[in-house]
Amino acid sequence: MIKIYNSLSNKIEEFKPIIKNNVILYVCGPTVYDYMHIGNSRPVVFFDTVARFFKYSGFNVTFVSNFTDIDDKIINRAKEKNISEEELSQKFIKEINKTYKKLNCLQHDANPTVSENIDNIINFIDLLVKKDNAYVINGDVYFDVAKIKEYGILSGQSIEKLIVGSRIEKNLNKKNPVDFTLWKATTEGINWDSPWGKGRPGWHTECVVMSRNISGGLIDIHGGGSDLKFPHHDNEIAQSIAAYNNKIANYWMHNGRIDFSGEKMSKSLGNVIWANETIDKVGYQAYRFLMLNVPYRQPLSFREDLLEQAVIDFEKINRAFISLFRKLEFEYNDVNIKEVKELVLLEIKKEFIAAMEDDFNTPNAITSVFKLIKITNKLLRNKNISKDLLKEIYCLFSEFLWVLGMEIKINKLTTDEMKLVQSWKQARSNKDFTKADNLRDEITKKGIFI
Ligand SMILES: [Zn+2]
Repeated sequence: MIKIYNSLSNKIEEFKPIIKNNVILYVCGPTVYDYMHIGNSRPVVFFDTVARFFKYSGFNVTFVSNFTDIDDKIINRAKEKNISEEELSQKFIKEINKTYKKLNCLQHDANPTVSENIDNIINFIDLLVKKDNAYVINGDVYFDVAKIKEYGILSGQSIEKLIVGSRIEKNLNKKNPVDFTLWKATTEGINWDSPWGKGRPGWHTECVVMSRNISGGLIDIHGGGSDLKFPHHDNEIAQSIAAYNNKIANYWMHNGRIDFSGEKMSKSLGNVIWANETIDKVGYQAYRFLMLNVPYRQPLSFREDLLEQAVIDFEKINRAFISLFRKLEFEYNDVNIKEVKELVLLEIKKEFIAAMEDDFNTPNAITSVFKLIKITNKLLRNKNISKDLLKEIYCLFSEFLWVLGMEIKINKLTTDEMKLVQSWKQARSNKDFTKADNLRDEITKKGIFI
Protein backbone atom coordinates (compact mmCIF):
# COMPACT_ATOMS: atom_id res chain seq x y z
CA MET A 1 0.00 0.00 0.00
CA ILE A 2 1.50 3.29 -1.11
CA LYS A 3 1.05 6.18 1.27
CA ILE A 4 1.39 9.78 0.15
CA TYR A 5 1.66 13.01 2.05
CA ASN A 6 -1.16 14.98 0.47
CA SER A 7 -0.36 18.69 0.56
CA LEU A 8 -4.07 19.39 0.18
CA SER A 9 -5.04 17.70 3.45
CA ASN A 10 -1.58 18.01 5.06
CA LYS A 11 -1.90 14.35 5.97
CA ILE A 12 -0.36 11.05 5.01
CA GLU A 13 -3.04 9.22 3.04
CA GLU A 14 -3.34 5.81 1.47
CA PHE A 15 -3.01 6.13 -2.29
CA LYS A 16 -6.24 5.09 -3.99
CA PRO A 17 -6.09 5.41 -7.75
CA ILE A 18 -9.09 6.64 -9.73
CA ILE A 19 -8.79 3.62 -12.00
CA LYS A 20 -7.41 0.43 -10.50
CA ASN A 21 -3.69 -0.13 -11.22
CA ASN A 22 -3.46 3.17 -13.07
CA VAL A 23 -1.94 6.41 -12.02
CA ILE A 24 -2.01 9.75 -13.78
CA LEU A 25 0.76 12.07 -12.66
CA TYR A 26 1.08 15.66 -13.80
CA VAL A 27 4.07 17.76 -12.78
CA CYS A 28 4.51 21.46 -13.56
CA GLY A 29 7.46 21.75 -15.91
CA PRO A 30 9.96 24.52 -16.55
CA THR A 31 9.56 27.85 -18.31
CA VAL A 32 11.77 27.34 -21.33
CA TYR A 33 13.98 30.42 -21.57
CA ASP A 34 17.23 29.07 -20.11
CA TYR A 35 19.08 25.86 -19.22
CA MET A 36 17.99 23.78 -16.25
CA HIS A 37 19.59 24.72 -12.95
CA ILE A 38 20.00 22.42 -10.00
CA GLY A 39 16.89 23.84 -8.27
CA ASN A 40 14.67 23.01 -11.28
CA SER A 41 16.08 19.50 -11.36
CA ARG A 42 14.91 18.40 -7.92
CA PRO A 43 11.25 17.87 -8.91
CA VAL A 44 12.49 16.28 -12.15
CA VAL A 45 14.56 13.64 -10.33
CA PHE A 46 12.06 13.13 -7.53
CA PHE A 47 8.91 12.70 -9.62
CA ASP A 48 10.78 10.50 -12.07
CA THR A 49 11.54 8.26 -9.09
CA VAL A 50 7.87 8.37 -8.07
CA ALA A 51 6.84 7.29 -11.59
CA ARG A 52 9.47 4.54 -11.53
CA PHE A 53 8.24 3.20 -8.20
CA PHE A 54 4.63 3.16 -9.40
CA LYS A 55 5.74 1.19 -12.48
CA TYR A 56 7.77 -1.14 -10.29
CA SER A 57 4.66 -1.67 -8.16
CA GLY A 58 2.67 -2.75 -11.21
CA PHE A 59 0.83 0.43 -12.09
CA ASN A 60 0.23 1.73 -15.58
CA VAL A 61 1.71 5.17 -15.29
CA THR A 62 0.74 8.19 -17.34
CA PHE A 63 3.27 10.89 -16.61
CA VAL A 64 2.81 14.32 -18.15
CA SER A 65 4.93 17.41 -17.59
CA ASN A 66 4.45 20.63 -19.51
CA PHE A 67 6.78 23.20 -20.98
CA THR A 68 5.73 26.80 -20.35
CA ASP A 69 6.68 28.34 -23.68
CA ILE A 70 4.64 31.55 -23.33
CA ASP A 71 5.71 33.85 -20.55
CA ASP A 72 7.01 37.40 -20.05
CA LYS A 73 10.46 35.97 -19.25
CA ILE A 74 10.55 34.29 -22.65
CA ILE A 75 9.30 37.39 -24.44
CA ASN A 76 11.90 39.60 -22.77
CA ARG A 77 14.76 37.15 -23.32
CA ALA A 78 13.82 36.73 -27.00
CA LYS A 79 13.79 40.50 -27.39
CA GLU A 80 17.24 40.77 -25.78
CA LYS A 81 18.60 38.14 -28.14
CA ASN A 82 16.72 39.56 -31.10
CA ILE A 83 15.14 36.21 -31.97
CA SER A 84 11.53 35.06 -32.00
CA GLU A 85 9.93 33.64 -28.87
CA GLU A 86 9.43 30.40 -30.73
CA GLU A 87 13.09 30.11 -31.67
CA LEU A 88 14.10 30.69 -28.04
CA SER A 89 11.58 28.30 -26.52
CA GLN A 90 12.22 25.55 -29.09
CA LYS A 91 15.95 25.74 -28.37
CA PHE A 92 15.42 25.33 -24.64
CA ILE A 93 12.79 22.61 -25.02
CA LYS A 94 15.48 20.68 -26.89
CA GLU A 95 18.10 21.50 -24.26
CA ILE A 96 15.87 20.56 -21.34
CA ASN A 97 14.89 17.31 -23.03
CA LYS A 98 18.61 16.55 -23.31
CA THR A 99 19.02 17.23 -19.59
CA TYR A 100 16.07 14.93 -18.79
CA LYS A 101 17.91 12.19 -20.70
CA LYS A 102 21.18 12.99 -18.96
CA LEU A 103 19.39 12.59 -15.65
CA ASN A 104 18.27 9.15 -16.83
CA CYS A 105 14.60 10.15 -16.61
CA LEU A 106 11.95 7.92 -18.11
CA GLN A 107 10.37 9.38 -21.20
CA HIS A 108 7.28 11.42 -20.26
CA ASP A 109 4.07 10.38 -21.95
CA ALA A 110 3.54 13.95 -23.09
CA ASN A 111 5.13 17.38 -22.76
CA PRO A 112 2.34 19.76 -23.75
CA THR A 113 3.12 23.41 -24.43
CA VAL A 114 1.04 26.56 -24.11
CA SER A 115 1.39 27.45 -27.78
CA GLU A 116 -0.08 24.08 -28.80
CA ASN A 117 -2.98 24.58 -26.41
CA ILE A 118 -4.03 28.15 -27.11
CA ASP A 119 -7.48 27.16 -28.41
CA ASN A 120 -8.13 24.97 -25.39
CA ILE A 121 -6.95 27.71 -23.06
CA ILE A 122 -9.16 30.36 -24.73
CA ASN A 123 -12.15 28.02 -24.55
CA PHE A 124 -11.48 27.38 -20.89
CA ILE A 125 -11.21 31.08 -20.04
CA ASP A 126 -14.40 31.66 -22.04
CA LEU A 127 -16.13 29.02 -19.92
CA LEU A 128 -15.04 30.83 -16.73
CA VAL A 129 -16.34 34.15 -18.13
CA LYS A 130 -19.67 32.55 -19.08
CA LYS A 131 -19.95 30.97 -15.63
CA ASP A 132 -19.39 34.43 -14.17
CA ASN A 133 -16.19 33.35 -12.41
CA ALA A 134 -14.12 35.70 -14.53
CA TYR A 135 -14.64 39.23 -15.83
CA VAL A 136 -13.30 41.29 -18.70
CA ILE A 137 -11.89 44.81 -18.36
CA ASN A 138 -10.37 46.51 -21.40
CA GLY A 139 -9.50 43.20 -23.03
CA ASP A 140 -7.91 41.75 -19.87
CA VAL A 141 -9.65 38.80 -18.25
CA TYR A 142 -9.41 38.34 -14.46
CA PHE A 143 -10.44 35.49 -12.27
CA ASP A 144 -12.97 36.55 -9.65
CA VAL A 145 -11.39 35.08 -6.54
CA ALA A 146 -14.20 36.14 -4.20
CA LYS A 147 -16.56 33.68 -5.93
CA ILE A 148 -14.53 30.71 -4.64
CA LYS A 149 -14.96 30.25 -0.93
CA GLU A 150 -12.15 27.64 -0.76
CA TYR A 151 -9.64 30.02 -2.35
CA GLY A 152 -6.17 29.50 -0.84
CA ILE A 153 -7.04 26.00 0.42
CA LEU A 154 -3.67 24.52 -0.55
CA SER A 155 -1.34 27.11 0.94
CA GLY A 156 -3.74 27.93 3.77
CA GLN A 157 -3.99 31.63 2.93
CA SER A 158 -7.16 33.59 3.29
CA ILE A 159 -8.22 36.28 0.83
CA GLU A 160 -8.35 38.83 3.64
CA LYS A 161 -4.74 38.18 4.62
CA LEU A 162 -3.66 38.32 1.01
CA ILE A 163 -5.32 41.68 0.51
CA VAL A 164 -3.50 43.07 3.54
CA GLY A 165 -0.22 41.63 2.22
CA SER A 166 1.82 44.28 0.52
CA ARG A 167 3.06 42.07 -2.31
CA ILE A 168 -0.23 42.20 -4.16
CA GLU A 169 0.12 44.65 -7.04
CA LYS A 170 -2.20 47.62 -7.10
CA ASN A 171 -4.47 47.47 -10.07
CA LEU A 172 -7.46 49.72 -9.97
CA ASN A 173 -9.17 47.81 -12.74
CA LYS A 174 -9.57 44.68 -10.67
CA LYS A 175 -12.59 44.08 -8.46
CA ASN A 176 -10.30 42.62 -5.82
CA PRO A 177 -6.52 43.03 -5.56
CA VAL A 178 -6.13 39.24 -5.27
CA ASP A 179 -7.86 38.53 -8.62
CA PHE A 180 -5.36 37.05 -11.05
CA THR A 181 -4.94 37.42 -14.79
CA LEU A 182 -6.31 34.74 -17.09
CA TRP A 183 -5.80 36.69 -20.29
CA LYS A 184 -3.56 39.71 -20.71
CA ALA A 185 -4.48 42.16 -23.48
CA THR A 186 -1.37 43.04 -25.44
CA THR A 187 -0.11 43.44 -28.95
CA GLU A 188 3.52 43.37 -27.85
CA GLY A 189 5.42 40.10 -28.05
CA ILE A 190 3.77 36.91 -29.19
CA ASN A 191 -0.04 37.21 -29.09
CA TRP A 192 -3.21 35.60 -30.37
CA ASP A 193 -6.74 36.68 -31.29
CA SER A 194 -9.35 35.93 -28.69
CA PRO A 195 -12.99 36.85 -27.97
CA TRP A 196 -11.54 39.68 -25.81
CA GLY A 197 -9.07 40.97 -28.37
CA LYS A 198 -5.37 40.34 -28.98
CA GLY A 199 -3.33 39.06 -26.09
CA ARG A 200 -1.90 36.01 -24.38
CA PRO A 201 -2.83 33.73 -21.47
CA GLY A 202 -1.59 34.14 -17.91
CA TRP A 203 0.52 31.37 -16.39
CA HIS A 204 -2.01 29.78 -14.05
CA THR A 205 -4.46 28.46 -16.63
CA GLU A 206 -2.25 26.19 -18.73
CA CYS A 207 -1.80 23.44 -16.15
CA VAL A 208 -5.55 23.24 -15.46
CA VAL A 209 -6.20 22.72 -19.16
CA MET A 210 -3.25 20.41 -19.83
CA SER A 211 -3.81 18.15 -16.85
CA ARG A 212 -7.50 17.83 -17.71
CA ASN A 213 -6.58 16.95 -21.28
CA ILE A 214 -4.98 13.72 -20.05
CA SER A 215 -8.18 11.99 -18.92
CA GLY A 216 -10.95 14.52 -19.39
CA GLY A 217 -11.49 14.69 -15.65
CA LEU A 218 -9.75 14.41 -12.31
CA ILE A 219 -6.20 13.10 -12.23
CA ASP A 220 -4.49 11.17 -9.43
CA ILE A 221 -1.46 13.26 -8.56
CA HIS A 222 -0.44 16.83 -9.29
CA GLY A 223 3.12 17.63 -8.33
CA GLY A 224 5.64 20.41 -8.31
CA GLY A 225 8.05 22.37 -6.17
CA SER A 226 6.77 23.78 -2.87
CA ASP A 227 7.32 27.31 -4.22
CA LEU A 228 4.45 26.64 -6.65
CA LYS A 229 1.86 26.08 -3.90
CA PHE A 230 0.96 29.74 -3.91
CA PRO A 231 -0.14 31.37 -6.06
CA HIS A 232 0.25 28.92 -8.95
CA HIS A 233 -1.38 25.81 -7.53
CA ASP A 234 -3.99 27.61 -5.47
CA ASN A 235 -4.96 29.53 -8.59
CA GLU A 236 -5.13 26.29 -10.59
CA ILE A 237 -7.42 24.76 -7.96
CA ALA A 238 -9.66 27.84 -7.85
CA GLN A 239 -10.16 27.72 -11.63
CA SER A 240 -10.91 24.00 -11.58
CA ILE A 241 -13.43 24.40 -8.77
CA ALA A 242 -15.11 27.16 -10.79
CA ALA A 243 -15.16 25.20 -14.05
CA TYR A 244 -15.58 21.60 -12.97
CA ASN A 245 -16.25 21.65 -9.25
CA ASN A 246 -13.11 19.60 -8.52
CA LYS A 247 -9.61 20.24 -7.23
CA ILE A 248 -7.78 18.83 -10.32
CA ALA A 249 -6.08 15.98 -8.48
CA ASN A 250 -6.85 13.72 -5.55
CA TYR A 251 -3.28 14.06 -4.27
CA TRP A 252 -1.03 17.10 -4.38
CA MET A 253 2.68 16.53 -3.80
CA HIS A 254 5.37 19.17 -3.31
CA ASN A 255 9.10 18.75 -3.07
CA GLY A 256 11.17 21.06 -0.89
CA ARG A 257 13.45 23.71 -2.32
CA ILE A 258 17.21 23.58 -2.72
CA ASP A 259 19.16 26.22 -0.88
CA PHE A 260 22.74 27.28 -0.54
CA SER A 261 23.86 27.87 3.04
CA GLY A 262 20.40 29.22 3.73
CA GLU A 263 20.35 31.46 0.67
CA LYS A 264 17.98 31.05 -2.20
CA MET A 265 19.65 30.30 -5.50
CA SER A 266 19.14 33.09 -7.99
CA LYS A 267 20.89 34.69 -10.89
CA SER A 268 21.02 38.01 -9.07
CA LEU A 269 22.95 36.40 -6.20
CA GLY A 270 25.29 34.79 -8.73
CA ASN A 271 25.05 31.34 -7.15
CA VAL A 272 23.30 29.47 -9.94
CA ILE A 273 24.50 25.91 -10.41
CA TRP A 274 23.58 24.43 -13.79
CA ALA A 275 22.35 20.86 -13.90
CA ASN A 276 24.28 19.85 -17.05
CA GLU A 277 27.66 20.92 -15.73
CA THR A 278 27.15 19.13 -12.45
CA ILE A 279 25.89 15.93 -14.09
CA ASP A 280 28.87 15.97 -16.45
CA LYS A 281 31.17 16.38 -13.49
CA VAL A 282 29.83 13.70 -11.15
CA GLY A 283 27.63 11.43 -13.31
CA TYR A 284 23.85 11.17 -13.14
CA GLN A 285 23.87 8.47 -10.50
CA ALA A 286 25.76 10.53 -7.91
CA TYR A 287 23.60 13.52 -8.85
CA ARG A 288 20.43 11.55 -8.26
CA PHE A 289 21.95 10.10 -5.09
CA LEU A 290 22.43 13.62 -3.73
CA MET A 291 18.81 14.51 -4.53
CA LEU A 292 17.29 11.27 -3.26
CA ASN A 293 19.30 10.96 -0.08
CA VAL A 294 17.23 13.70 1.58
CA PRO A 295 13.49 13.29 2.33
CA TYR A 296 11.79 15.02 -0.59
CA ARG A 297 9.65 17.37 1.45
CA GLN A 298 12.61 18.80 3.33
CA PRO A 299 14.75 21.57 1.92
CA LEU A 300 17.98 20.27 0.42
CA SER A 301 21.06 22.29 1.28
CA PHE A 302 23.43 22.13 -1.59
CA ARG A 303 27.10 22.14 -0.62
CA GLU A 304 30.17 21.00 -2.55
CA ASP A 305 31.15 18.60 0.24
CA LEU A 306 27.73 16.93 0.10
CA LEU A 307 28.11 16.49 -3.62
CA GLU A 308 31.56 14.98 -3.09
CA GLN A 309 30.13 12.66 -0.45
CA ALA A 310 27.43 11.57 -2.89
CA VAL A 311 30.18 10.69 -5.39
CA ILE A 312 31.98 8.63 -2.74
CA ASP A 313 28.79 6.89 -1.63
CA PHE A 314 27.72 6.10 -5.13
CA GLU A 315 31.17 4.70 -5.89
CA LYS A 316 30.57 2.11 -3.14
CA ILE A 317 27.38 1.06 -4.89
CA ASN A 318 29.11 1.04 -8.25
CA ARG A 319 32.03 -1.12 -7.10
CA ALA A 320 29.85 -3.67 -5.35
CA PHE A 321 27.54 -3.95 -8.34
CA ILE A 322 30.33 -4.33 -10.88
CA SER A 323 32.20 -6.82 -8.70
CA LEU A 324 29.05 -8.89 -8.50
CA PHE A 325 28.64 -8.76 -12.24
CA ARG A 326 32.29 -9.70 -12.83
CA LYS A 327 32.03 -12.59 -10.42
CA LEU A 328 29.12 -13.95 -12.39
CA GLU A 329 30.89 -13.23 -15.65
CA PHE A 330 34.09 -15.04 -14.65
CA GLU A 331 33.09 -17.80 -12.38
CA TYR A 332 30.21 -18.88 -14.53
CA ASN A 333 30.72 -17.12 -17.83
CA ASP A 334 27.08 -17.44 -18.82
CA VAL A 335 25.54 -14.51 -17.01
CA ASN A 336 22.37 -13.30 -18.60
CA ILE A 337 20.96 -10.21 -16.96
CA LYS A 338 17.42 -10.80 -18.14
CA GLU A 339 17.44 -14.47 -17.28
CA VAL A 340 16.28 -14.45 -13.67
CA LYS A 341 12.92 -12.81 -13.25
CA GLU A 342 11.56 -14.73 -10.32
CA LEU A 343 13.11 -13.54 -7.12
CA VAL A 344 13.18 -14.77 -3.62
CA LEU A 345 11.55 -12.10 -1.56
CA LEU A 346 14.38 -11.09 0.65
CA GLU A 347 13.93 -9.13 3.81
CA ILE A 348 15.86 -6.29 2.22
CA LYS A 349 13.47 -6.13 -0.68
CA LYS A 350 10.59 -5.81 1.74
CA GLU A 351 12.36 -3.01 3.53
CA PHE A 352 13.13 -1.21 0.31
CA ILE A 353 9.52 -1.42 -0.83
CA ALA A 354 8.22 -0.40 2.60
CA ALA A 355 10.46 2.68 2.50
CA MET A 356 9.24 3.70 -0.94
CA GLU A 357 5.62 3.01 -0.03
CA ASP A 358 6.03 5.29 2.97
CA ASP A 359 5.59 8.54 1.06
CA PHE A 360 8.59 7.77 -1.15
CA ASN A 361 11.15 7.69 1.61
CA THR A 362 14.13 7.51 -0.72
CA PRO A 363 16.81 7.95 2.00
CA ASN A 364 15.54 4.79 3.70
CA ALA A 365 15.41 3.00 0.36
CA ILE A 366 19.06 3.95 -0.15
CA THR A 367 19.81 2.46 3.28
CA SER A 368 18.40 -0.84 1.97
CA VAL A 369 20.73 -0.59 -1.00
CA PHE A 370 23.68 -0.30 1.38
CA LYS A 371 22.46 -3.32 3.34
CA LEU A 372 22.47 -5.26 0.10
CA ILE A 373 25.99 -4.05 -0.65
CA LYS A 374 27.18 -5.30 2.70
CA ILE A 375 25.81 -8.75 1.94
CA THR A 376 27.21 -8.64 -1.58
CA ASN A 377 30.70 -7.77 -0.42
CA LYS A 378 30.58 -10.50 2.20
CA LEU A 379 29.38 -13.13 -0.27
CA LEU A 380 31.92 -12.14 -2.87
CA ARG A 381 34.66 -13.11 -0.43
CA ASN A 382 33.08 -16.53 -0.03
CA LYS A 383 34.45 -19.06 -2.48
CA ASN A 384 31.57 -21.48 -2.29
CA ILE A 385 28.83 -19.09 -3.09
CA SER A 386 26.16 -20.49 -5.38
CA LYS A 387 25.54 -18.99 -8.75
CA ASP A 388 21.79 -18.84 -8.19
CA LEU A 389 22.12 -16.82 -5.04
CA LEU A 390 24.51 -14.41 -6.72
CA LYS A 391 22.08 -14.03 -9.56
CA GLU A 392 19.23 -13.31 -7.21
CA ILE A 393 21.24 -10.62 -5.50
CA TYR A 394 22.27 -9.22 -8.83
CA CYS A 395 18.64 -8.96 -9.93
CA LEU A 396 17.51 -7.40 -6.69
CA PHE A 397 20.37 -4.93 -6.86
CA SER A 398 19.40 -4.07 -10.45
CA GLU A 399 15.78 -3.53 -9.42
CA PHE A 400 16.72 -1.14 -6.63
CA LEU A 401 18.97 0.83 -8.93
CA TRP A 402 16.24 0.97 -11.57
CA VAL A 403 13.68 2.36 -9.13
CA LEU A 404 16.13 5.05 -8.05
CA GLY A 405 17.08 5.76 -11.66
CA MET A 406 20.71 4.96 -10.85
CA GLU A 407 21.22 2.03 -13.21
CA ILE A 408 24.82 1.06 -13.82
CA LYS A 409 25.68 0.14 -17.37
CA ILE A 410 28.41 -2.48 -17.53
CA ASN A 411 30.09 -3.70 -20.66
CA LYS A 412 30.83 -7.36 -20.76
CA LEU A 413 34.54 -7.97 -20.99
CA THR A 414 36.04 -8.57 -24.40
CA THR A 415 37.82 -11.87 -25.10
CA ASP A 416 41.20 -10.14 -24.67
CA GLU A 417 40.17 -8.63 -21.36
CA MET A 418 38.89 -12.01 -20.24
CA LYS A 419 42.24 -13.58 -21.12
CA LEU A 420 44.05 -10.89 -19.18
CA VAL A 421 41.99 -11.58 -16.07
CA GLN A 422 42.43 -15.33 -16.48
CA SER A 423 46.21 -14.99 -16.67
CA TRP A 424 46.17 -12.80 -13.55
CA LYS A 425 44.23 -15.53 -11.75
CA GLN A 426 46.64 -18.13 -13.04
CA ALA A 427 49.67 -16.12 -11.88
CA ARG A 428 48.08 -15.70 -8.49
CA SER A 429 47.40 -19.39 -8.05
CA ASN A 430 50.96 -20.11 -9.19
CA LYS A 431 52.08 -17.68 -6.48
CA ASP A 432 53.93 -15.64 -9.11
CA PHE A 433 53.14 -12.41 -7.30
CA THR A 434 55.29 -10.08 -9.39
CA LYS A 435 53.53 -11.17 -12.54
CA ALA A 436 50.14 -11.06 -10.78
CA ASP A 437 50.78 -7.51 -9.57
CA ASN A 438 51.77 -6.36 -13.04
CA LEU A 439 48.72 -7.94 -14.59
CA ARG A 440 46.55 -6.45 -11.91
CA ASP A 441 47.90 -2.97 -12.69
CA GLU A 442 47.11 -3.52 -16.34
CA ILE A 443 43.61 -4.65 -15.48
CA THR A 444 43.00 -1.70 -13.18
CA LYS A 445 44.22 0.68 -15.86
CA LYS A 446 41.50 -0.62 -18.12
CA GLY A 447 38.98 0.32 -15.46
CA ILE A 448 38.00 -3.25 -14.71
CA PHE A 449 37.15 -4.06 -11.11
CA ILE A 450 37.80 -7.60 -10.00
ZN1 LIG B 1 1.62 24.36 -13.29
